[in-house]
Amino acid sequence: MFAEVIVDVSTNSLDKIFDYECPENQTILLGQRVLVPFGNRTIQGYVLNLKETTNLNKNQIKQILKPLDNFAIIIPEMLNLIFELKNIYNLRIIDILHLIVPSQIRSGKVKSQTETFCYLTSFGMEHLNKIKANSKNQISACAYLKNVASESIVKLKKQFGNATINKLIEKGFVGFVTENKSRLPMQEISPNLEDDLVLTKKQMEAVNQILSKQKLVNLLFGVTGSGKTEVYMHVIKNALKNNQTAIMLVPEISLTPKTVKQFRARFGSTVAVLHSGLSDGEKYDEWFRIFNGEAKIVVGARSAIFAPLKNLGAIIIDEEHDGSYQSENNPRYETNEVAFIRAKYNNCPLVLGSATPTIESFYKAQNGSYNLITLNERINKMPLPKMQIVDMCKEFRSGNTSIFSGELINEISKSINNNEQTILFLNRRGFSSFQMCRECGYVAKCSDCDVSLVYHKEDNLLKCHYCGKKFKPLTKCPNCGNVNLKLGNTGTEKVVEELKQIFPKTPIFRMDNDTTTTKNAHAKILTEFEKTKPSILVGTQMIAKGHDFPSVTLVGILDADLSLFYSDYKANEKTYQLVTQVAGRAGRKNLEGKVVLQTFFPKHYVYNFCANYDYLRFYNKEINLRETASFPPFSKIIRVLVTSEDNELAKNLTHNLFLKFKDLRINNKTEFYFLEAMRSPHAKIKKKFRYQVLMRIKENNQNLVKQIFEISNITNKNVTVFVEVNPQNLG
Ligand code: ADP
Ligand code: ZN
Repeated sequence: MFAEVIVDVSTNSLDKIFDYECPENQTILLGQRVLVPFGNRTIQGYVLNLKETTNLNKNQIKQILKPLDNFAIIIPEMLNLIFELKNIYNLRIIDILHLIVPSQIRSGKVKSQTETFCYLTSFGMEHLNKIKANSKNQISACAYLKNVASESIVKLKKQFGNATINKLIEKGFVGFVTENKSRLPMQEISPNLEDDLVLTKKQMEAVNQILSKQKLVNLLFGVTGSGKTEVYMHVIKNALKNNQTAIMLVPEISLTPKTVKQFRARFGSTVAVLHSGLSDGEKYDEWFRIFNGEAKIVVGARSAIFAPLKNLGAIIIDEEHDGSYQSENNPRYETNEVAFIRAKYNNCPLVLGSATPTIESFYKAQNGSYNLITLNERINKMPLPKMQIVDMCKEFRSGNTSIFSGELINEISKSINNNEQTILFLNRRGFSSFQMCRECGYVAKCSDCDVSLVYHKEDNLLKCHYCGKKFKPLTKCPNCGNVNLKLGNTGTEKVVEELKQIFPKTPIFRMDNDTTTTKNAHAKILTEFEKTKPSILVGTQMIAKGHDFPSVTLVGILDADLSLFYSDYKANEKTYQLVTQVAGRAGRKNLEGKVVLQTFFPKHYVYNFCANYDYLRFYNKEINLRETASFPPFSKIIRVLVTSEDNELAKNLTHNLFLKFKDLRINNKTEFYFLEAMRSPHAKIKKKFRYQVLMRIKENNQNLVKQIFEISNITNKNVTVFVEVNPQNLG
């Protein structure tokens, strides 16, 4: 018997699969992790195929040394997934494998944790009176054990002393058992079990449509607060009833423990949690709880789509439009694509839920590839919060140069007086966006990246938001020596400082990347905020996601234009989504909500549609624009990004690639809408120079995409070539 093995070495840049002979005395399983000789080393590999013959000669072939587990760590479904993903994204098999078998499982460094429990043996029970009267500790320990039946050895030894317990064990009075102990993440969230809610008619229809599987993919288009979660839970309940399993994805779950709470309340300990914030031990235990079938529902962020669940009965992607579902680093994949492959394999429904679906998803719902389900009312019939658009040019002309409009300050005061809460959103952290010389215009930049540095007042440093490097703030211009320096646009840190001056008595919380570096920091801030009334929460994008605070009645969007003028074809869409999402935090329970949206472009159509919550009209306008300009979903954008510490090398290679793509275009004239090579907008990041070739090609030409992948397959250790299809951003 022979095995095709992919070896786990990062230098295997060609992703070669090698034949090995199976040892005679041992069965090797498909998908098993094995130890193999490789060059003069022994390394880990994975069995991707088993076969009777090999093309290698007897003297060329080496033998598998041994299997590393007594089971196959890659389930058959995942083997299928590996090859599908390799095809679509041109990923290396070993990189996909690393998604499927996370490092905590592979490394061998993380071990399962055990706990030992003691009990009184029947011998001990019978001979209790034989313990000498002066062995007081032994007598107390036995009495204690008789009472509690079983206790952890660690606790017993602490209470009665090591020697006492050891002696009792030695004498046979006390026995012990050792059990595996699961490190359960988010243990602080263990709510009481709750019953199902009675579904509304609309929710019921939604559930039935999904379960009917007329189409595998369902777009659940429901306004914020329309009860989508309840629909998900019913679909999942149905899967469990059929002895199946389910995946429930939410964007960046570490930010919103809310879903875990809801799911544990409904489904108890069969819920596992997977996200990047887990400790290694937690991840290891959860992964095996899922793999062993102990946990049947996985609630998690993007990477949980690779959870080793068998017999999937439902996959849910909540807030499907969220950017976090697309991985931006290698290996790059789109979560809904992976979900679709898994849904197809298991013939189970895939539900994409959102109040603001991506244009691509809604297009697919319109043209019939997806089943469209609409929930257009909030459950409690509460109106969506009223959105007021405030013209910041007008404020400026009337002499208000602060980041708060008069209107917003008024509304915040009202909310404070009513003992309610306010959320203020600004997608810019730090104190101010840059430090600049008023005389010569010099802007402080990172030495490793071509980006301006952000001033952080708390630690009085300039920080690079791309690589994290820190610099002393300027006291004078290094270019012209001028001491008259100016700070750029306001960030969250400064918002809090200014708010404190206006509302000195009101507690103010801040949630952004700077205040949430420690584990559980998000949860702490959110819990504190929830308890404190009145109060204000200032934050970046992370406060926009899924939070449900009943007392929040006011949402202020300080600079809505930030995402609107991003040079990206998705700028309108992202702005619409973000504004609607943030607005959805207001007035969720019984109190009416209000949104104040500050902009320098109050007439912009995106804001108009936002203010009326008119997704359909927004969609119609946007899809027309996309069609006219041949942008996705009517085309594919492909970016070939070339990065290297050697500027000339990157530049020359990009040029060579460009020439090859030009030839490709000559042979496929009608397939190309656009082809251009350029410096990346961020010309240098982390010491690496960046160039790119941008292409727009016809939507349905996987063959052409393959050729582009092939041309871009360059192996040179001094330069990286990275192909992205429909990238999230072109920076
Ligand atoms: P969405 O996910 O669409 O934003 P949620 O699922 O958070 O909405 O639902 C909003 C609120 O409505 C929640 O407080 C939820 O408990 C409640 N809710 C949902 N469905 C029902 C129902 N059938 N009966 C009563 N309350 C419901
Ligand atoms: Zn930097």
